[in-house]
Amino acid sequence: MISEPLVFVATSDLAGLTRGKAVARSELLDRVDRGIGWVPTNALITCFDNLGESPYGSLGDLLLIPDVNTEVMVDFEDGTRPENFVIGNIVNLDRTPWECCTRTHLTSALNRLKSVAGLQLYSAFEHEFQFEEPSENAPANPAFSIQGFDLHADFGEVLFAALSQAGIKPDSFINEFGTDQYELPIGPTQGIHSADQALVFRQLVHACSRRFGQRASFIPIRHFDAVGNGVHIHFSLQDADANPVTYDPNGKHFLSAAAGSFAAGVLKYLPEFLCLTAATEISYQRLTPHRWSSSFNNLGAQDREAAVRICPLTSTSNKVAARQFNLEYRAADATASPYLALAALVHAGVQGIEEGLRTPNATTEDLSLFDKTTLAGMGIERLPSSLSEALDRFNASPMIEKWFGKVFCEVYTNHKKAELKILESLTFEEKCTMYGRVF
Ligand code: GLU
Ligand code: MG
Repeated sequence: MISEPLVFVATSDLAGLTRGKAVARSELLDRVDRGIGWVPTNALITCFDNLGESPYGSLGDLLLIPDVNTEVMVDFEDGTRPENFVIGNIVNLDRTPWECCTRTHLTSALNRLKSVAGLQLYSAFEHEFQFEEPSENAPANPAFSIQGFDLHADFGEVLFAALSQAGIKPDSFINEFGTDQYELPIGPTQGIHSADQALVFRQLVHACSRRFGQRASFIPIRHFDAVGNGVHIHFSLQDADANPVTYDPNGKHFLSAAAGSFAAGVLKYLPEFLCLTAATEISYQRLTPHRWSSSFNNLGAQDREAAVRICPLTSTSNKVAARQFNLEYRAADATASPYLALAALVHAGVQGIEEGLRTPNATTEDLSLFDKTTLAGMGIERLPSSLSEALDRFNASPMIEKWFGKVFCEVYTNHKKAELKILESLTFEEKCTMYGRVF
């Protein structure tokens, strides 16, 4: 049969989905100049494909410009079409950045980190996902077991190879604690590449599972009582020459002053930006105590319920330790655009540096046992417990508006309100089914 190879030009949108248009592969370079037509109101299309109230209406034109450095071409060598896509930026017709382009928001946040503190971000997104629910009679698949590994080992090997072909460094393949839950951590990278890799990772997980006749889902939580699928963002700071500057053997919790301020900023503004990292109604059920996610804006040393966890050092050499030392933001899931999640984290961190905030105390207690006043005395609060509460905090925050701009905040809020409207009369389980079909 005749065929013309197509490349998908992708943008990570406010719904947390990868959307875009495909063009002839042979025309890709031409499209860097010409762009691909895009529409402002597209930012209001929710993950359920209904439209939020749009300040743009039917007006306006934008361009999606492919960044050819991000092109992914993974040939599964199984007779199927290679996965071929490239990530783009959305610009106005005069080529100025568009106010709701998620990738541009991350670029601005990273530029701010550079201009305020002379630092760059080194980070990695760690995703958990689940295969479709097993049938009632399916064999048990105990967590971390060799049976569980075996069951999806072929998938794991294909995904390892696919990630490597896409320039991503796979670390390990894990049969996680939840039912049919798996995880494949990847190595860290600088700046914007980390969010690009998160987008690519999600797509390759879907592409691989489809080739095994299965579907893997990144849904934050599958049932009310289920184990959640988290996205943990590991991050550390580097100077302009890529030297690690997070570790200080004499610093509080071994954190350098800059890293301590950065973490303090993240925790201070977390309740206000949470809706950008935990982006759906059901995300908030994952963010409840004792789920190994996070439900307070606390720092924890090796505590998997802390919003920001200080990860362990496994090397005895100070030099290796400095490179290895990193923090982990745990209040995210894959319903959030990786660009918006990382942009929020970076803005909050830079804000902490600008304000000269001190390294917070790491908690060791079960914070769910403390009342509001005790928590307030520790400088800690319970995170918003629903998407609407998180949106209220987002909207009431002058800082968020300063970082992301008034129009973006309005568009994001209208988008999320339209998404909530669809869910209005549904039970929790029905909401999970709706989200499970999409993510
Ligand atoms: N599944 C947990 C979450 O929702 C994380 C478990 C872990 O890897 O520590 O974030
Ligand atoms: Mg995990």
